[in-house]
Amino acid sequence: MHYTTIMKANEVEKNILKCSRCGLCQEVCPIYDELKSESSATRGKLSQIFGLIKGDLKLNREILNNLDLCLNCEKCKLNCPSGVNTTGVFNKERKLGLVGKIMTSDFVFNLKIKSLELFSLFKKSPRFDDSSNILYFQGCIAKKLKQGLNLQGLKLKNGNFECCAIPYLTKGREDIYNKIAKYNEKIIEKADLVIFDCATCFSTVKDYPFKNPKNKDKLVFYTDFYKKAQFVSKQKVSVTFHMPCHLKAAGVSLDEIEDILKSIKNINYTRALNAQDCCGFSGDFFLRHPKIAFNIAYKKAKGIVRTNADFVLSACPTCIWSLRFSLFASKYIYKNKNKIKTMDMAEFLNKYCYIENKTAQKERKRTNQDAGMCV
Ligand code: SF4
Ligand code: SF4
Repeated sequence: MHYTTIMKANEVEKNILKCSRCGLCQEVCPIYDELKSESSATRGKLSQIFGLIKGDLKLNREILNNLDLCLNCEKCKLNCPSGVNTTGVFNKERKLGLVGKIMTSDFVFNLKIKSLELFSLFKKSPRFDDSSNILYFQGCIAKKLKQGLNLQGLKLKNGNFECCAIPYLTKGREDIYNKIAKYNEKIIEKADLVIFDCATCFSTVKDYPFKNPKNKDKLVFYTDFYKKAQFVSKQKVSVTFHMPCHLKAAGVSLDEIEDILKSIKNINYTRALNAQDCCGFSGDFFLRHPKIAFNIAYKKAKGIVRTNADFVLSACPTCIWSLRFSLFASKYIYKNKNKIKTMDMAEFLNKYCYIENKTAQKERKRTNQDAGMCV
C-alpha cells in the first residue's frame, strides 16, 4: 500500500467517494483533538475538497486555512476502515496562501537547511567505510546535525543520497518529488542494503513509485540489526521513547523498539501514556501554525515528564527538535520540573551502551545464577 506518494488527479475524487463518513479518523487526529472543529479534521477537510472539486464551494481564506491544518501524521489513514488515502488527497489538494507559499518555497527550504550548518560546526566527520555495499541514507537534516549512523558490528558506506523529498511531497510538488525519487532509486539499485535511522526518510523512501519493486526490499530501519543484540548500558539510567508517526506508518511498531530498550542491562524503560501521539511540529507546520503546534507539543512534553525518565529517545530529527523545544518550554515557561535529555536512539546506543559478546553473556548468567538471581 502506498502511504505517501503523490496521487493522480482522478484518484482524489475516487478516494473521497470511498469515505463512509464514519468519523474514526477524527478520533485519532491531533488537530481535531486540539481544535475540536470538524472543518479542520480529516472528514471535514475531505468534504471541503469535494465541494471545491464539484464547484459547490469557493476557495476562501477559511477553507485555505483548514486544508493547511494537517501534521501529515498518517494516523487518520492508518485508522480508516474504508482505506481512504487521506494524506494522499491532502498533499495533492493542499492550497497555500501567500505566507504558506513563502514558508514552503525552495528559497526558505534551502535557508532552513543552510541555517542548520551553524549547529554542525562542531560535528565530527562521519565514520564510513567505502569497502561496504551497505549504504547509509543520511537525510538532509541528519547531514547537518549528526555524525552519521555508527552501527556496532556493521560497516556502512555513505550513500550520498538526495533529500528523501518529503518537503516537496507534502506541498504537491510532484515534479521535484519524482526527480529526486528517480535519482535516489538509481543509488538504491546498486546497493545490497540501504539503512535508515530517520523515520520520516524511511517511510517516504519506502513509498517511492519504484521502477524496480525489488529495490523496496533493500530498505531497512537500523533497529532490525539490533533485535538480537544484548546491549549493556554503561550506567544505570531510565529511558522512555517517543514513537515518530512516520515510523509507525512505515510498519515499525513501538513494541519492536521497546523490546530492544527493555532488554538493555542497566536500563529501566517506561512507556509514556502518550508515547504514540504526534510531537506537533511536523516539518514547517510549526512555523505556519505555531500556537496549535506548541499546544500539541506541550501535551506531549507533559506525558514524557510523567515518566520521570533521564532520557527520552526517538528516531526522527524533527521529532527530536520538537521534544527538546517543548521540554525546555515545559521546564522554564510552565515550571514543570524535569531533568530529561532528548536524544536520538542510535546515538544513545553508541554513546552509552555496548554490545556484550556471547562469552560475557554466559559468564554474567552463570554469576547471576550462582548468586540466585533471576536472569
Ligand atoms: S475513517 Fe475513513 S471512512 Fe471514516 S470518515 Fe474518516 S476518511 Fe471517511
Ligand atoms: S494526517 Fe494527522 S493531522 Fe492530518 S488529518 Fe490525518 S490525523 Fe489529522
